[in-house]
Amino acid sequence: MQQTTREWQQLDASHHLHPFTDFQALNKKGSRIITKASGVYLEDSDGQRILDGMAGLWCVNMGYGRQELVNAATQQMQQLPYYNLFFQTAHPPVIELATLLTEITPPHLNQVFFTGSGSECNDTVLRMVRHYWASKGQPEKQVIISRHNAYHGSTVAGASLGGMKGMHAQGGLPIPGIVHIDQPYHFGEGQGISPHEFGLERARQLEQKILELGVDKVAAFIGEPIQGAGGVIIPPDSYWPEIQRICDHYGILLIADEVICGFGRTGHWFASEGFGIKPDLMCLAKGITSGYLPLGAVMVSDRVAKVLVEEGGEFNHGFTYSGHPVACAVAIANIKLMQSESIVKRVNETIGPYLQRRWRELADHPLVGETRGKGLVAALEIVQDKRTNQRFPTAANAGMTCREFCFNNGLVMRAVGDTMIISPPLVITEEQVDELVSLARRSLDLTAQTLK
Ligand code: PLP
Repeated sequence: MQQTTREWQQLDASHHLHPFTDFQALNKKGSRIITKASGVYLEDSDGQRILDGMAGLWCVNMGYGRQELVNAATQQMQQLPYYNLFFQTAHPPVIELATLLTEITPPHLNQVFFTGSGSECNDTVLRMVRHYWASKGQPEKQVIISRHNAYHGSTVAGASLGGMKGMHAQGGLPIPGIVHIDQPYHFGEGQGISPHEFGLERARQLEQKILELGVDKVAAFIGEPIQGAGGVIIPPDSYWPEIQRICDHYGILLIADEVICGFGRTGHWFASEGFGIKPDLMCLAKGITSGYLPLGAVMVSDRVAKVLVEEGGEFNHGFTYSGHPVACAVAIANIKLMQSESIVKRVNETIGPYLQRRWRELADHPLVGETRGKGLVAALEIVQDKRTNQRFPTAANAGMTCREFCFNNGLVMRAVGDTMIISPPLVITEEQVDELVSLARRSLDLTAQTLK
């Protein structure tokens, strides 16, 4: 059906409830209708071109319009569009992808449990770690420790594992058996102490929590190597080694949620490698198919798999679309494309450093209190007073104002409160990085004029 923008917006408002959206506010304004995309650019129903500085939702890593991925999906649709993995069956794409994933992830991760999304990965790890401890004869080890302001998805378990206040406020979350410690957010919560000290202090909250609850009650710790949706929070270098030490010392499982950080985003195949994390379980989604189809994967370490296989009996868990053959075929093609274009090396050695250098130039802007980033993910903090890092009053809506200016000027940049974040496709060129940074600066200028 060929509609005008207004007609699309009216139908959308009448029939479609958007995720994470104030429905009434959206309906007053009307949604932006995205009709096509190519490379790093989106196009809307009015024909405006927009640089997608967020790679969709941190997922379109290889960019839009990759024919290799379209071909893989088409061929698999024709060959075998669906079959399930329950009842002792498998199919070639799921076997091939499981094998490939064990080759590109750290060497101690040799088994994969497939899901349909990042949230389903986190539901899976919650059940898997409890089943692991129960199978080892310690069923009372149930508690999973996470962080305030973490994001682990939107299902009941995902939102409970996450530490988003707004999500917990709706629907009686978190569910029992999940507790949260403070996040390693130096700019927001660590002013006045060195990043090194702050990282250690925040990591040691894990130890305090384990001792408070009793090590016989604690099953695991879960964390995003870099908190994405929380505002691209990059922990100080002291943080992860201390977390790893504590998990090792008390023998609790470490779960790395790499749903955003995985597949090259930080300049490593997986951010755990860069931070020196040795996860017992690792959650993957998004970039696994470059977002072309929904797919998630939980990488399971030898330590956990041995218990599940030898002592676990039947694991009563799985999804109709676990390891969907078409999604797996696209994931295989996507990983091969990443390999043939040496995309991780590119993020690590050339385009990542280039983006970080250009992004840090924004630190001289009167509204910017801090810039930070790693690989192709970055953030900047909007402040009212650069000398003290004092924020604007919440009612000023500085972040949302900036986000609107970006969108109207042809750039998708996301606002988390007054933290502006980007995570562009990994195929972005230097010229496109220049365009991104100059659009961001222009939007900051317009924001400054509005907030004066
Ligand atoms: N985990 C992390 C770290 C995420 O950032 C997200 C989504 O943004 C999820 C899990 C949930 O993934 P999905 O939206 O595919 O369920």
